Amino acid sequence: MIPLKEDMFIPAIKISNNPVWQRLVHLGTKRGIKMFADDFRGTPLEGEVRGFYIGKNEFNAIVVDSSLPEEQRQFTLAHELGHYALHRGSAYNFDSPKELKAKNEREADYFANRLLHWVRKGQP
Ligand SMILES: [Zn+2]
Repeated sequence: MIPLKEDMFIPAIKISNNPVWQRLVHLGTKRGIKMFADDFRGTPLEGEVRGFYIGKNEFNAIVVDSSLPEEQRQFTLAHELGHYALHRGSAYNFDSPKELKAKNEREADYFANRLLHWVRKGQP
C-alpha cells in the first residue's frame, strides 16, 4: 500500500489551464473525488504507471503523472474516471502497459474515449 496523504500531491486543477483538462478535473471534483497530479519521473512509478485511482470506503482519489504530454495526461485522467465510474470498490487500479489487456483496462479505455469525445465538444 502506498501511504496517501493529501499534501503529498499537487491539486490536479493547478497543473494545466487546458479547458479539457479543467473540465475533467471538475467532473471528478463534483463527485467528491480528490484529484491530484504529480511528476512521477525519478520515482518507482516512472515508466510503469501513468495514473491511478484509489477507492476505499468513502474515499476516492485519482493521481495522474503531471509529466505526461497534455493529451496523454487527459486520457489517463479520463481513464481513471472510468475506473471510478465502472470499477469502484476495487482498491487499487494501477495502470501499467502490461495491464492494458485486462478487461477493466479495456472498459476504462472505452469510457475514457467516450468521455473525452463529449468533453472536447464542450459537454457535459
Ligand atoms: Zn486502468
